[in-house]
Amino acid sequence: MFMTERREPRFFRFSSTAVRWSLMASGVLLLVLTLWVARYIYLESEVRNLAGVKQMQEQFEALKQDLSDEIEKFQALQEKVRKLENQLKGKSYAPSREDAETQNFPVLKGAPFSPDGMEDVLQAYKLFTSRRGELESQYNALNEEVAQRLSLLEYVPSIPPTSTLSISSGFGYRRNPMNGRIDFHPGLDIRGDPLDLVRATASGTVTFAGWKGGYGRTVVIDHGNGFVTWFAHNYSLLVQAGERVKKGQAIARIGSSGYTTGPHLHYEVHYGEKIIDPRIVLNVNVFTVKSILSRVRR
Ligand SMILES: [Zn+2]
Repeated sequence: MFMTERREPRFFRFSSTAVRWSLMASGVLLLVLTLWVARYIYLESEVRNLAGVKQMQEQFEALKQDLSDEIEKFQALQEKVRKLENQLKGKSYAPSREDAETQNFPVLKGAPFSPDGMEDVLQAYKLFTSRRGELESQYNALNEEVAQRLSLLEYVPSIPPTSTLSISSGFGYRRNPMNGRIDFHPGLDIRGDPLDLVRATASGTVTFAGWKGGYGRTVVIDHGNGFVTWFAHNYSLLVQAGERVKKGQAIARIGSSGYTTGPHLHYEVHYGEKIIDPRIVLNVNVFTVKSILSRVRR
């Protein structure tokens, strides 16, 4: 009974030392473990950070590539716009100094992955977007100009009145085939087979369709802008006075009515009080229409 009573406290004393040691040991172990875990977490987050940085760098390079591609497209468009702009002005195209500056975007290619490099790319991007904005408004202005010229052209007698334009007698002074005398020929005589179609050379309103003395069966079209066209010696007429006609629309068939030696179309172009050589406005296009019209108006 005593022995057991004695033993128990001894066992307790011994065990208390062991417990302290083991507690200390496990404390150290815990500390080491904690440090390991902390280090592991830290390293893992470092690895994740590095992956993040790598991803950012890849995004940065992709952004530079996208911007370079956009700039390339922009430059191709810029060249087209400049060419069109110059063609509309009747000038030939030469790259301007401003364009040459835009060609460079020098910072872009070499920009390193760094705050400075990012700043450079940002600057290049801002420059690019402002240039693109300018180009867009130039492009829109050109589009408007072309649209305006096309609507102008619609009422300028610019297409041949027959499918083939074979001229037997030109505009101006000539020996009259009917009487051999020198006289003024106010139009073009265009060869054609009888019944070939005659077409309106511009849109407008038919002001006369009928017999007109030596002109025979004649169509007169008023184009509403100073231009009036005459088509004479027809075999038959396909339109009536007051009718609206479109450019290219068939208006008559070639014949030899009136004062003529044989089947042909006599074609006149009037501008205001003047009668002009139809060839002045023949084949005029969107690029030349403005300068040719100012020539006609003089
Ligand atoms: Zn004639």
